[in-house]
Amino acid sequence: NASNGSDAAVNIFSRMSRLATKHGAINLAQGFPDFACDGALIECAAAALRGENNQYAPVAGLPSLRAAIAEKILSEMDVHVDPDQEITVTAGAAQAIFTAIGCMLCPGDEVLILEPAYDSYIPAILAKGGVPRIVTLKAPDFRINWDEVEHAVTPRTRVLIINSPNNPSGRVLNLTEINALALIAEKHDLLIISDEVYEHIVFDGKQHHSFLQHAKLRSRSFVVFSFGKTLHVTGWKIGYCVAPPAYTRKLQALHQYAIFSVNAPLQAGIAAYLGCHRGAWSLSDLFLPKRDRLRAGLVENGFTLCETQGTYFQLAEFSNVRNDLTDFEFADWLTISGGVACIPLSSFYSGMDNGKYVRFCFAKKDETIDIALSRLRRL
Ligand code: PMP
Ligand code: GLN
Repeated sequence: NASNGSDAAVNIFSRMSRLATKHGAINLAQGFPDFACDGALIECAAAALRGENNQYAPVAGLPSLRAAIAEKILSEMDVHVDPDQEITVTAGAAQAIFTAIGCMLCPGDEVLILEPAYDSYIPAILAKGGVPRIVTLKAPDFRINWDEVEHAVTPRTRVLIINSPNNPSGRVLNLTEINALALIAEKHDLLIISDEVYEHIVFDGKQHHSFLQHAKLRSRSFVVFSFGKTLHVTGWKIGYCVAPPAYTRKLQALHQYAIFSVNAPLQAGIAAYLGCHRGAWSLSDLFLPKRDRLRAGLVENGFTLCETQGTYFQLAEFSNVRNDLTDFEFADWLTISGGVACIPLSSFYSGMDNGKYVRFCFAKKDETIDIALSRLRRL
């Protein structure tokens, strides 16, 4: 995060991508696929651009896209969501989170965060005059002590932000943990922002349990998703937020002034694509071989691995490769001298030393992973 990076104004993903470009490194740092999305999606988007969808969409999002999202949620999760009252199309999950925090928080309100955490949460809280309250989870297993979580709650605590499958830890919350969280949320009347952007990437028989499927949690949650992740188009920056009608009204009251509405032709393109997509949305079969390809190569090259239950990120401990560097120094060194860019784990924490771990993204062509591994072999 900003306190650890060398340039406080530039986030870690921009910084490492820039460094990768400058030194010709394979970019396993910033999380984005380097392979093409489904050609049918491009055809749908192109058709929408050629059609009549080039003016403002409604604030909530195109009705056709909201209907398609409700349909997707029903078929995947067996949950009914009202497309007119509970769905807001957003400029990526990041804007959904920023706006949810913006519409619910008053200055001085506290927000509980489990670290490691995605880098946009704390700036959004601070922008609203809120106070982040951090519970730290430690590598390698990132176990959650729910008593510790509850102890961090104060009378000022208003919101809890949770992300599963988790970037960067790769952990997936199980039902026991979700029930423990629900008890705390109920007892202390907390709102929840559930960041579920990696909902379709889970491995080894693990299952993603959406907060939409948990009646008690659903009634107090903003649940956030990203088409960038699900459709391999991170640059489109389109996601959505599902929340109870009263929260959705508050969200849209701010959303209409923050952005008014999201890119209309791409919304129409996604709606058309969802309409003709049949079958499951799971991306596990796509990403599992990539995960295991990267893991095998990292182990061969001296790294020690954390378990990756979900997401397209792998955490690796590097002390057998270089024991003399911090994770920030190692990430710079690996990018500049090794030709492979990664992200230091400490960038997902508020300023403490978090050991010798870096994060690699495996949402890449097999050739890209192989080139990166061949470079590691030459270290
Ligand atoms: N949350 C998490 C955990 C993420 O990894 C990302 C993507 N980097 C986002 C939110 C933001 O998603 P989007 O690109 O759709 O805004
Ligand atoms: N979510 C992506 C990651 O974790 C990066 C998004 C961004 O660059 N802001 O790598």
